Amino acid sequence: MTSAHPPRPCLEPAEGSELDEALRRAFWTSLHRNPLPALQALAVAARTVGALYRQIAQAHEGPGGCGCGWEPDPDSDLIVLEANLAASLLKPPEPDLARMTALGRA
Ligand SMILES: [Zn+2]
Repeated sequence: MTSAHPPRPCLEPAEGSELDEALRRAFWTSLHRNPLPALQALAVAARTVGALYRQIAQAHEGPGGCGCGWEPDPDSDLIVLEANLAASLLKPPEPDLARMTALGRA
């Protein structure tokens, strides 16, 4: 096997605040264009996270996969994802991206 340069989708530097902002901005921009009931919108976001999990897990399969060493384990990874969801629900409010997007400048 010639392992030239395996794709490394997950080895971006720490924290993920750039990704966080990009996702939230895209979410609110889309809702302003095409409003949905609150829980339905969040359910779509949750399904998208699930789909992203499958894709990033797939990117770690086989000899051509990401070489970072992470091995997808849906059962325990789901616990981590649930914990993150719970933590974000209990967190104090953050800068209001919904309002910022509504004011333009998306
Ligand atoms: Zn990886």
